[in-house]
Amino acid sequence: MRERRPGTLAVHAGHDGEDGPGAPVVPPVHRAAIHRFDTTDDFSHVMADSRAGYLYGRLRNASTDDLAAAVAALEGAERALCFASGMAAVDAILDVLAPPGTAIVAPRQLYGTTVSALRRRGPVAFADVRDHDAIAAALARRGPALLYAETSSNPHVAVADLPALAALAHAAGAPLVVDNTVATPLGCRPLDHGADAVLHSATKYLNGHSDAVAGVVAAPAELVERLERHQVETGAVLAPDAAWLVRRGMRTLHLRVVHASAAATAIAGHLEAHGRVARVFHPSLASHPTADAARRVLRLPGALLAFEVRGGRAAAEAVMDGVTVCLRATSLGGVETTISHPASTSHRELSADELAAAGVPEGLLRLSVGCEDPDDLVDDLEGALR
Ligand SMILES: *Cc1c(COP(=O)(O)O)cnc(C)c1O
Repeated sequence: MRERRPGTLAVHAGHDGEDGPGAPVVPPVHRAAIHRFDTTDDFSHVMADSRAGYLYGRLRNASTDDLAAAVAALEGAERALCFASGMAAVDAILDVLAPPGTAIVAPRQLYGTTVSALRRRGPVAFADVRDHDAIAAALARRGPALLYAETSSNPHVAVADLPALAALAHAAGAPLVVDNTVATPLGCRPLDHGADAVLHSATKYLNGHSDAVAGVVAAPAELVERLERHQVETGAVLAPDAAWLVRRGMRTLHLRVVHASAAATAIAGHLEAHGRVARVFHPSLASHPTADAARRVLRLPGALLAFEVRGGRAAAEAVMDGVTVCLRATSLGGVETTISHPASTSHRELSADELAAAGVPEGLLRLSVGCEDPDDLVDDLEGALR
């Protein structure tokens, strides 16, 4: 059968549950924490993994299996595994692929909590995502190494040139792990570009409705089996209800991401032409620092953007306080547009000089564009900037 396109997979992929006449179109939530057996023989075989079946909630669950199968299909992966959160997925992949003594190399442009999770394991070599020479040099030391990157970063939406990074990692015998949360599988499929594993905070676009916290790793079957064995011992499983909500949200992934990406492109163009805006960061703009990588790697520019208002912190706070459609809130990837001020939230511990060095000026605002009417969002920002 020919491979279906991503928008179709987002609706239909996964285990459809019951078959036969009158089968439900929507799968139930499989809340059972334990499963029973008709015979001791079945019981012992399932326990020994020599016969397929569910046994106990920390080992496998049909609702999380359904979500994992859908994400694997969208990412073009052999298999996937769900986790209790995006950070649980990050932690598991590092435990499995970067045991103590592994040199971790990463672009500087990374999710803040991921930076601390990497650092907790030992020294990390950070380089600018465009500085391939520095990344190659950091990978070239003796011993095992791992390269960790995000397809599109937050808040600057810096795009990693994944084919180039995969080549650098593999030349050093290191795996490339990619966080594809911001780009989504509709914007990019990192495994097609040479990544060895791809992960998501499914809390964001995959769920899309800001009502569940979840993580997923998609990878070759052999790696997913190692992650499963790790999860049996660490226990960071996703609850069935949360898995069901994420799978339900994913059915509209295509609609949401295509809409929000087009809206973000329109808003980015509008803001770039605005007299009170100094800079806009969005991969759709020719002025974007990683516009080249975006052309190679992204099928959609995405729904996240950042912009710097003239007038520093006071002006940024005035815009934040002036919006009436955008929500003042953290996180991204929901149907609702959220606006945040990195200098007073995610980066609040940095001094003014440190903020400037991190490329987060005090006037920078981040927008996660949702599914409202784009004209209302433009009006909202326009009014707040005035
Ligand atoms: C939110 C986020 C995470 C962490 O995911 P949680 O589900 O909040 O644990 C990791 N990476 C990126 C890029 C994120 O946006």
